[in-house]
Amino acid sequence: MGLMRSLLLWSSRNEALRRTLPKFTFVRRAVTRFMPGENIDDALQAALELQEQRLPTIVTHLGENLSHEREAHEVADHYLDVLDRIRKKGLDCHVSVKLTQLGFDLSDELCASLTEKIIRRARELGNMVWIDMENSPYVDRTLRLFKQMRTKYDNVGVCLQSYLIRTEADLNALLSVAPSVRLVKGAYAEPAGVVFPTKRETDENFFRLSMKLLHAARTNGAITGIGTHDIALVERIQSAAVKEGIAKNSYEVQMLYGIRREEQRRLVGEGFRVRVLISYGSFWFPWYMRRLAERPANVLFVLKSLFSN
Ligand SMILES: Cc1cc2nc3c(=O)[nH]c(=O)nc-3n(C[C@H](O)[C@H](O)[C@H](O)COP(=O)(O)OP(=O)(O)OC[C@H]3O[C@@H](n4cnc5c(N)ncnc54)[C@H](O)[C@@H]3O)c2cc1C
Repeated sequence: MGLMRSLLLWSSRNEALRRTLPKFTFVRRAVTRFMPGENIDDALQAALELQEQRLPTIVTHLGENLSHEREAHEVADHYLDVLDRIRKKGLDCHVSVKLTQLGFDLSDELCASLTEKIIRRARELGNMVWIDMENSPYVDRTLRLFKQMRTKYDNVGVCLQSYLIRTEADLNALLSVAPSVRLVKGAYAEPAGVVFPTKRETDENFFRLSMKLLHAARTNGAITGIGTHDIALVERIQSAAVKEGIAKNSYEVQMLYGIRREEQRRLVGEGFRVRVLISYGSFWFPWYMRRLAERPANVLFVLKSLFSN
C-alpha cells in the first residue's frame, strides 16, 4: 500500500483530525466535489437533477460506529422519513445504510430490528435498501444479518468487496438466497492475509465475481450493482456479458456522486443502467479521507482549494 494511501486511511480513523480538519473552510469546500451538501434536502435536490439526466440514485447518511442506542434509533427514524420524502418527490432513489450506524456495535438484535424497520417501510413504498460492507471484522455478522433479512424481504441488497480473499466463498454461500449484490473493490485499511496483495488480483477477482453475479441474476432475478469507477474493468465486464447474451440493461453500474460524471452520462447514452450514490451528513471526515485514499491525486484538489481561498 502506498505511503500516501496509508496516511490517508490512518487519518480516516484519527479522532483528533476528525474534530479539527472539518473546521477549515478549504477542507469543507473541497468536500463539495463529492457531496452536494450536508442535508437530506441537498442530497434529494441532487437526486432530482440526476434523474433528469436519466441517472437514478441511492442516498446514504454519513456516519458510522455509533455508541448510544438513542442515536441508532434516530438514524433509523431519519431513514424512514427519507423514504417518505423520496416517494413524495417521485424519485427512483434507493437508500444505503451502514450497520454500525444502526447500533451494530451495541447489539445484533437492536441493529436487526432497526434495519428491518427500514426495509419494511421501503417495501411498503416500493423501494430498495442496500447494506454497506464495512471493515473485515464486521463481514461475518453483516452477512448473517443480510441473510436473515433476505429470507423475509426481497427489497434488500448487500455490498461485497473484491479485495477480500474470502469474498468468493461468501458469494457462493449466499447464492441460495438469490442475493442482490453491489460489488465494490473495498475501501478500508485491512491487515495482510485478509486482502489480495496486489491491485491486479483484486481487479481479477472483481471481474470473476461480477460474471458469477450476472449469471446468477439471469435465473434468480436479483439486482447486480457493478460498483466501480474503473472504466476499463466496466468495459471488460460489459463485453464479456454481451458475448454471453446478458442484456446490457439487466445490471447497474453504480458510481459515487462527483466521480467520473462524463462517463456516467456516456454509459447512459449507450443504453447501460447507471445509478449514482449520493452521500450527505455532517459526519463526513472518515468517509472523505477514504475517498482521498482511493485516488491520492485528489489531495491536489484539496490543496488547490486552499490556494484559491
Ligand atoms: C456505489 C458504491 C458503493 C460503495 N460502497 C462501499 C461499501 O459499502 N464498502 C466499501 O468498502 N467500499 C464501498 N465503495 C468504495 C469502493 O470500495 C472503492 O473504494 C471505490 O469505488 C474506488 O475504487 P474503484 O472501484 O473505483 O477502482 P480504483 O481502481 O480505485 O479506481 C479506478 C479509477 O477510478 C477513478 N477513481 C476511483 N476513486 C476515485 C476517487 N475517490 N476520486 C476520483 N477518482 C476516482 C480513478 O480514475 C481511478 O484510476 C463503494 C463504491 C461505490 C462506487
